[in-house]
Amino acid sequence: MLDQAQRILKDVFGYDAFRGNQARIIERVAGGGDALVLMPTGGGKSLCFQVPALLREGLTVVVSPLIALMEDQVATLDELGVPVAALNSSLSPEAQRDIAARLERGEIKLLYLAPERLVQPRMLAFLQRLNIGLFAIDEAHCVSQWGHDFRPEYLQLGQLAELFPDVPRIALTATADMRTREEMIQRLHLQNAEQFLSSFDRPNIFYRIVPKEQPRKQLLGFLSERRGDAGIVYCLSRKKVEEVAEFLSGQGFPALPYHAGLSNELRAFHQKRFLNEEGLIMVATIAFGMGIDKPNVRFVAHLDLPKSLEAYYQETGRAGRDGLPADAWMAYGLQDVLLLRQMMQNSEGDERHKRIERHKLEAMLALCEETRCRRQALLAYFDEQMANPCGHCDNCVDGVETWDATEPARQALSAIYRSGQRYGVGHLVDILLGKDTEKVRSLGHQHLAVFGIGKARAEDEWRTLFRQLVARGFADVDLEGFGSLRLTEACRPLLRGEETLALRRDPKPQRSKSSSSGGASPASQLVRAEERQMWEALRTLRRKLAEEHAVPPYVIFPDATLLEMLRSQPRSLSDMAQVSGVGARKLERYGQAFLDVLTDSPAAPATPPADLRHELVSLARAGMTPAQIARQLDCTEKNVYSLLAEAITAQQLSLEEALDLPEALLADVQDAFLEEDGELPPVAAIAERFAGRVPQGVLYCVRAALQAELEA
Ligand code: ADP
Ligand code: ZN
Repeated sequence: MLDQAQRILKDVFGYDAFRGNQARIIERVAGGGDALVLMPTGGGKSLCFQVPALLREGLTVVVSPLIALMEDQVATLDELGVPVAALNSSLSPEAQRDIAARLERGEIKLLYLAPERLVQPRMLAFLQRLNIGLFAIDEAHCVSQWGHDFRPEYLQLGQLAELFPDVPRIALTATADMRTREEMIQRLHLQNAEQFLSSFDRPNIFYRIVPKEQPRKQLLGFLSERRGDAGIVYCLSRKKVEEVAEFLSGQGFPALPYHAGLSNELRAFHQKRFLNEEGLIMVATIAFGMGIDKPNVRFVAHLDLPKSLEAYYQETGRAGRDGLPADAWMAYGLQDVLLLRQMMQNSEGDERHKRIERHKLEAMLALCEETRCRRQALLAYFDEQMANPCGHCDNCVDGVETWDATEPARQALSAIYRSGQRYGVGHLVDILLGKDTEKVRSLGHQHLAVFGIGKARAEDEWRTLFRQLVARGFADVDLEGFGSLRLTEACRPLLRGEETLALRRDPKPQRSKSSSSGGASPASQLVRAEERQMWEALRTLRRKLAEEHAVPPYVIFPDATLLEMLRSQPRSLSDMAQVSGVGARKLERYGQAFLDVLTDSPAAPATPPADLRHELVSLARAGMTPAQIARQLDCTEKNVYSLLAEAITAQQLSLEEALDLPEALLADVQDAFLEEDGELPPVAAIAERFAGRVPQGVLYCVRAALQAELEA
């Protein structure tokens, strides 16, 4: 059986070898056993049921919670030539009937369904009449009430065990903790399932956490080494999302906002663009998350601190699903700590709940102030021991200096205490530095014993120290939320001299030229400068094919496959067949086209105007008005109209796609152009008549469409 699986892997998917537990899982499931698969994002879960689906008789039913996820997998399988379908609410009744008929004829190997659909009595009855070979339950942690992705419909999936006692079931998730695992087994009736646990390490992700100084500037520094890469920038608030997206766009980094305050359409539109275009940056709140299966997200940047390591792991985990180098970058500062502490104190919920939240935040803060390998610390939190430092995080690469902060820590804590535990960091630092400010004088704080005892240290050193003291739980913010600090029980041993304190030293900004951003990580450059041109040529072809097939580019070929083409330089179709990710079907469809690009020495990459036109076409297709497009592309509306007219002339766009005109008005304009026999009159000849009724640009577009029609 494994031989056969191997052949399918190569012929259909174009891959040479199974990864990790894949082979064992496939053997188990194809042989008719149940399985519970825990594998990190990007680990290759899909193949674990897609290969058995092709090995086994009958239909494999895949339960997936989100339409976006489904569509992605269906498109991918479709491109591979696998007979696949999805039933969801976005289909017309005819389309659904057509799929049902094909299912009855046994023409479909994989069927994707949302859980609520699967458990409808009619659907279950229908499936019972078919020959089912396997059930695959993706994102199986959605059954857990404890987790954050709970979906009540998942609870009903337990009945599959009774209704289809002879059909094997495989449940898959990237959520690892014990409690969720037990819930999955219980509720999905997977007591007989063999469990396959993988390491949750994401070895291709480089972790870096930098102290927040000038966050926007630091972010730009980080991004400047990653131009053209797709990534996600997470912020806490909607307002900040909007601001940062605008800021990045202004700095020449194409960026879109995404948060719960945007309309559903706009959110869906931005998500679609993120998937379909290359090099876009999504600036988002955590509302942007699950369902983002884009494999070539090259970085995830955090401008605000996540609330827990679970969240951090999940959010950073959206980078590098394709296994290629990716970056997790975060800027973190005192304000983050204060803000989250306050949010937690003021949050609803009982004391127990608050205690758990607090504990989780503390673990997150500990990672920020970690002096050892970040990856070791992160995995240890998830109960996975890593024997050695990873060598692939900032702490491993740069090293961390620690220093004995016992004395200054006592001074800082005394400053809090002596000033009455009522002031924020700014004023406390002023006291330590002995600054003669109005506030100091009006409060008489120049008479405090601690006044001026910290002159030997710079202001930013004190601020760092306060951040670390709060992060370590020696001090806390007040309940009223004014940002003033007070002492906690934890600081007693330190103040009494029973304890010493070693802290990490913030990297000095002047130490290396780019350390304000944290510097380039080893992951920052996927392709070398001399490869850039060919890389862009390959991507341009891929984008063109993707557009023709109406799928995201990575469905044509993942980046890893393009990269291998670039490096191995295939010269023939049989060379091409050796490239990982090139299966039989794709070889036949696309092999020659990519060979042509590769062998067509110095290929000319797409010129910027063509790119702009391309972007314009996709925006128009997605239903944006010219005014919206103008804003998006940062040009005038007039420009947009003339580009639209050009695209219509070039037959890249239909008039209906370009403009949403009332029919009567459109007929009027067309009539005006067609009044005279022979050549179409110029726009100027009829412009007067429509002045005030439609923008002149519309006339150009209508004329272009008529012209194209006449010439056809
Ligand atoms: P997951 O669902 O676990 O996040 P996917 O199934 O989407 O991961 O796989 C992640 C990427 O790895 C995909 O691009 C997939 O094609 C690729 N992949 C999976 N298994 C293999 C393999 N054995 N060899 C090469 N690439 C693989
Ligand atoms: Zn490390």
